[in-house]
Amino acid sequence: MKLVFLGGPGAGKGTQAELLSSSKSIPHISTGAMLREAVQAGTDLGKRVGDIIDAGKLIPDETMIEVVRDRLSQSDCSGGYILDGFPRTLAQARALTDLCAELGRSIDAAVLFDVPRAELVKRLAGRRGVEQRADDSEEVQKERIQIYEEQTTPVIDYYQQRGELHKVDSLGGVEEVTKNLSRTLEKL
Ligand code: AMP
Repeated sequence: MKLVFLGGPGAGKGTQAELLSSSKSIPHISTGAMLREAVQAGTDLGKRVGDIIDAGKLIPDETMIEVVRDRLSQSDCSGGYILDGFPRTLAQARALTDLCAELGRSIDAAVLFDVPRAELVKRLAGRRGVEQRADDSEEVQKERIQIYEEQTTPVIDYYQQRGELHKVDSLGGVEEVTKNLSRTLEKL
């Protein structure tokens, strides 16, 4: 199963990706987590992206496409994967389609974890300080939601037009969303 998880910051896609990754034994590929690890390890990539992450802005497409290309080319991805946090721009979505064609592994679905904006704001406020993330300040959270709306909405439209988009109501608690997700995946 090759899935792309879409949704705003605080939509719960990371949590659901984690759970599904364990139950299906397929890798959970979170580009945000990969970048944060690179920052901590002090790699070249980490040095280039640290300040951008802290400001809540997006890393340039070329860099992200390279990171994802390397990761999806690894053997543990051949049986499936869950991409969480990528693609975030139309250019990334198109690059992913090309990359999948190259690897002979097209995605099965793009799953949108649907949460109204007001709820995202509320959830992020609750998360502030809890995960000790520098990009969880109120100002940066606002920036991330705005960037999501501007840059990632076209990605949703892209998958919709390709007939690959599946929406999962994500307003409820974790267990309820897990159930909604299972129902969606059963239909694939
Ligand atoms: P996340 O954990 O998915 O919220 O990602 C944390 C931060 O990493 C984002 O705010 C961006 O700065 C960066 N990032 C992660 N994935 C991407 C991506 N696909 N494109 C650009 N920047 C990204």
